Amino acid sequence: LNERMQRFTTTIFAEMSALAAEYGAINLGQGFPDGDGPREVLEAASRSILAGENQYPPARGIPALREAIAEHRSRFFGLRYDPDSEILVTVGATEALAATQLALLEPGDEVIAFEPFYDSYDAGATLAGATLVPVRLHAPEFRFDADELAAAVTPRTRMILCNSPHNPTGRVFRREELEHIAELARAHDLVVLTDEVYEHLTFDGRQHLPIASLPGMRERTVSVGSGGKTFATTGWKVGWITAPANLIAAIATVKQHLTFVSPAPMQRGIAAGLALPADRIAAIRDGLQAQRDLLLDALTRAGLQPFVPEGGYFVVADIASLGFTDSRAFCEELPRQIGVAAIPMSPFYRDAAAAPTLVRFAFSKQPQVLREAGERLRQLA
Ligand code: PMP
Ligand code: GLN
Repeated sequence: LNERMQRFTTTIFAEMSALAAEYGAINLGQGFPDGDGPREVLEAASRSILAGENQYPPARGIPALREAIAEHRSRFFGLRYDPDSEILVTVGATEALAATQLALLEPGDEVIAFEPFYDSYDAGATLAGATLVPVRLHAPEFRFDADELAAAVTPRTRMILCNSPHNPTGRVFRREELEHIAELARAHDLVVLTDEVYEHLTFDGRQHLPIASLPGMRERTVSVGSGGKTFATTGWKVGWITAPANLIAAIATVKQHLTFVSPAPMQRGIAAGLALPADRIAAIRDGLQAQRDLLLDALTRAGLQPFVPEGGYFVVADIASLGFTDSRAFCEELPRQIGVAAIPMSPFYRDAAAAPTLVRFAFSKQPQVLREAGERLRQLA
């Protein structure tokens, strides 16, 4: 392994899922649902396989999916993208993020990202020979300080990487926060790469606001989506990018040498999902909000201190209230001790000591599974 990738060996998600499997623990670590999503989605992909759509599809994605992405982005968020020139289908959001960094960054460039950050952001920047510069989201609200953000910009800054709703904190960025980011991006001519894989999964009436919809931002924003989270198909790895034609052309150049194309039948399935009426997607969101509430209740009863997430799949909780001091040691013991797996927050920080007692739990699980996890967690109290 080359030197620059030495820091990125086994991801924390793989590590904790392996421990969960070893001890037969309830896996509240890696973020994936334990049930299937809408029938329409599953049937469309199955039909596609049986209809013989089993060879390489078009490079930028099947037209039906690119049209569905354009229609969906316009219907839900009022953003218009041309399916032929401004949309690229990828192998999950992961490829979308890495391909964008590989296409747009030069070695030595800097990428600002909000910390804690999803692990692949730093890996993607590093693959491109660039450096990730963290700007802290401060607990308990996980908001950034506008002065700290402004101070992070240097002559080498090329990109700001945003993620809202945010993994791992569950924060949904407010309009005024997005405006701060947009103002800096315009002033310093930066690209904004925005990871919006949880765009539909917002709670308590909150709405996701795409940063591309702010004035002067569409032309400099690369927006990333995924079918995995909304439609409970994380194993399908269908993601997409919407961006201006010049940026899509650059990213498509890289994508063709990473994976060439994305699997055709799964694209059919996700196209069916994106076409679902708003009330079906709202029902998915409401179900997840109820699961969030179950897990919040379970964590509180166990004596932990959870931060209430506004969106996404995860709750962050502080284990200091129970006298624990090391989240990694806690998560390494938990599957064996009580049969529950979770993720320490340290890998989401540049400095592993930054949040020594924060742990992330996924609530994308069936209610009875969350209840059982709650029973087990009570052994901690
Ligand atoms: N971004 C975020 C914030 C995520 O949480 C995830 C997956 N959990 C991804 C990207 C990766 O998405 P995909 O599985 O579509 O590659
Ligand atoms: N994104 C998921 C999470 O945050 C996991 C994806 C992965 O395992 N790479 O848990």
